[in-house]
Amino acid sequence: MKIGVLALQGDFAEHIKILKQLNVETAEVRLPEHLKGLDGLIIPGGESTTIGKLAAAYHLMEPLREFGQRHAIWGTCAGAIFLSKDVSRDQPLLGMMDIKVQRNAFGRQIDSFETDLDIPELKQATGSKEDYHAVFIRAPIIESVSGDAKVLAKVDDGRIVAAQQGHLLATSFHPELTNDTRFHEYFLSLVD
Ligand code: GLN
Repeated sequence: MKIGVLALQGDFAEHIKILKQLNVETAEVRLPEHLKGLDGLIIPGGESTTIGKLAAAYHLMEPLREFGQRHAIWGTCAGAIFLSKDVSRDQPLLGMMDIKVQRNAFGRQIDSFETDLDIPELKQATGSKEDYHAVFIRAPIIESVSGDAKVLAKVDDGRIVAAQQGHLLATSFHPELTNDTRFHEYFLSLVD
């Protein structure tokens, strides 16, 4: 299995590190031809407008959409924004997931925080009973899901922070910044 990480901007190196820890072959994706031979793709956290503009400049928008029709893609934070259909503002989006996202939704004073999440799918897939300790950095929330997208995780006040639509995955938080590899394992379970 070979997993690509979109390496235009943001914390792609951290995702690669965890994938290597899980003995998965990795590739940095900067150009359309780098998608060849990959079984799945991770879009990292960073700055979604920058990632979108660079993806457009490198002619990656259509190739990424085509890739996602057949393969698993997971967006973390800025990557989740980039996968969404609607962010209530004008910026380049892949528009692949039926989720509406609000950027920087947790406000300035608590724009970075950590909390434990109960994610039944994750526990089931990894055979673990532990809650998931999630790191949020100027994180978006998923305001709503539609179509066949489903909610995977919510914070205590009910706001949605993870969603899945078939083999597409979006998380507001950053599993690449923790030592817990369960979310990466969960993603790998979606890769055919
Ligand atoms: N606030 C960033 C954005 O809107 C996302 C932050 C992140 O990826 N940690 O794109």
